[in-house]
Amino acid sequence: MSSRTNITRIRNIGIMAHIDAGKTTLTERILLATGRIRTAGNVHDGEATMDFLPQEQDRGITITSAATTTRWSPHQGLNKGALHRITILDTPGHVDFTMEVERSLRVLDGAVAVFDASQGVEPQSETVWRQADRHGVPRIAFINKMDKVGADFTASLQSMRMRLGANVVAVQVPMGAGAELGGVIDVLRMRAVLFGDDGPDVETEIPDALRGEAELARLRLVEACADVDGGIMHKFVAGRLHDVGEAELRWALRAGTIQRTLVPVLCGAAARMRGVVELLDAVVDYLPAPSDVAAVTGDHPQTMASIRRAPLSSEPFTALVFKLIHDKSVGSIAFLRVYAGALNAGSPVLNATQRRPERIGRIMFMHAKAREEVDHVEAGDICAALGLKGVRSGDTLTARDFPVVLEPLHAPPPVVEMAVHPVTRSDMEKLESGLQKMAAEDPSLQVSVDPESGQTLLKGMGELHLEIVVDRLRTEHSVAARLGAPRVAYRETLLTTVIQEYRHSHQNGGVGQYAHVVMEVGPAPRGAGLVFINATRGGVIPQEFIPAIEKGITGAMQRGVLTSHPVVDVQVRLLDGSTHVKDSSTMAFAIAGSMAFQEAARKAGVQLLEPVMSVEVEVPEEFLGDVLGDLGSRRGRVRSTDVRGHLRVIRAEVPLARLFGYVGALRGFSQGRGTARMQLLGHAPVPVSDQAALVAAHA
Ligand code: GDP
Repeated sequence: MSSRTNITRIRNIGIMAHIDAGKTTLTERILLATGRIRTAGNVHDGEATMDFLPQEQDRGITITSAATTTRWSPHQGLNKGALHRITILDTPGHVDFTMEVERSLRVLDGAVAVFDASQGVEPQSETVWRQADRHGVPRIAFINKMDKVGADFTASLQSMRMRLGANVVAVQVPMGAGAELGGVIDVLRMRAVLFGDDGPDVETEIPDALRGEAELARLRLVEACADVDGGIMHKFVAGRLHDVGEAELRWALRAGTIQRTLVPVLCGAAARMRGVVELLDAVVDYLPAPSDVAAVTGDHPQTMASIRRAPLSSEPFTALVFKLIHDKSVGSIAFLRVYAGALNAGSPVLNATQRRPERIGRIMFMHAKAREEVDHVEAGDICAALGLKGVRSGDTLTARDFPVVLEPLHAPPPVVEMAVHPVTRSDMEKLESGLQKMAAEDPSLQVSVDPESGQTLLKGMGELHLEIVVDRLRTEHSVAARLGAPRVAYRETLLTTVIQEYRHSHQNGGVGQYAHVVMEVGPAPRGAGLVFINATRGGVIPQEFIPAIEKGITGAMQRGVLTSHPVVDVQVRLLDGSTHVKDSSTMAFAIAGSMAFQEAARKAGVQLLEPVMSVEVEVPEEFLGDVLGDLGSRRGRVRSTDVRGHLRVIRAEVPLARLFGYVGALRGFSQGRGTARMQLLGHAPVPVSDQAALVAAHA
């Protein structure tokens, strides 16, 4: 089937939220409203249609961000009646899967931020909001659970303003809240929309009791739009509010959303299908089409020249593999975001990242487990492709003669490592290939072999992340394995700057090896990785050897000098060196770079860094003392304690090393009534006594 949709009628969106705000429910109800599925699965019965892998259903959380395509003709607004294609990239809310959120944010064009009306902005909603800021993703907001006791639309808006600094614009006003939620006022059209219990919503006049509130919301909305649109501003300052038309306001809201100067806010109760239709209309009206988004840029794989690809079908084919799923029946399913050009099923492409020719097999739009096959995709499309061999998550696919490598997916640094033990000999044989496939899918999973113990080590985003890896080994690759105890993924940094000389000179029969370097090695700012500066003069080391020196240093940084955890944030200035006419080679310079770095690191002194988590604990008041005492014993620093209803909310910063098993311990001393959430805050120096203990244990 060929189903070309005009690019202006495509919306690629994410739904992002704090865990439990109702993201899964909302996605389900959107699919229900758009007619893709007939009955909405209940997440907690483990049958939600978006959830893709059996593990997700077991755990009741959405792990993978499957891309689900659906179609919608808006009931109202600028695009009333026109058929649109909406692809929803599900973004999991659990902190162990920040990578999944990042990869979705990378390829979507806009997002719906969901909030729980009784909670407002929660820690995780703040995290994903900031991630979306970093990726420049335009957003609209949906205040969900307006039917819940304690639901408060105004307070939720206020918390978005205060905690997120968002310029929120209410395009709806709820009519009542909690059990009394009867509908919403559409502020753009100044009409009341009464939620129909079983049938469709009914439109009426705004009731007198809500007239004042509606007028005020309208004034605020016009004011916000005036900041975007000169014509509206003109009428606004002249006091001609009623001359401002609906379409004019919608265009201004659209422009403001896309340029990210405002955030339109809607409300409802997803679980009861309240406000979902109105939200879909808003997605189409306010969130950008792929054609509204700037051209992507990447590098030519050989010349490294910067190349732009505009979102046009006439450009050379360019797509990013943002996700891979291994499927038992069809092999690898690669999810592509097509940024430019067009692609037919069965045609040749280039894996520009790996510089390998490939051939695309079948192409399809995915509806969770259902697949809709198409023969052709174009700029703006998000689709799944079969038949690619050896592709990795983050690779760029292009037309054979027009290579460009887009920025790969950035994996956050791993914080936890666990040894993985195969159960039987046959599992041992299959373990490596299974893990390799999984690492190709998931850039935040690192697999290595401990050179001392020979054990296979997994590094990842958290205990749960690695537990799921092992679960998937069993279900998808038929490998039985168990995990060792979790260990913290420490990092080493340098304390001072030193100058180091190293001469690698080796005479072994005929051909010798010679390389000589002098370099200054010291700490670089956090997050810098390796800053390598060639400050040699007069070509004392020929250019051809310079990358080898850098490569040698990068290699040596993988294993630190104190505990064999990687060294991060280093600056190296190559100052001087010499070569030998016959005996110098890239190999010799790589060795010299590596040895010089290791000696320098020993001299410079090493500080261990540890991951520190931000932890939010919720407990009934009577357990507050126990929680605070326990956090203290874990080297935790309490930042605040607040009241939320009859609960106390404690926010603290705690080293990950002291947090393994915390959720269980908390449950124990709070009689099962405490809950905790944690996320990576950053890395901090390990206290002196702990560092000494870690070094001794390593030795
Ligand atoms: P997610 O973690 O953000 O995906 O949240 P879920 O969709 O799993 O929902 C979390 C809980 O909130 C579930 O128990 C839902 O039934 C409930 N929920 C979702 N939407 C609503 C709503 O509109 N009103 C109420 N009262 N509960 C809701």
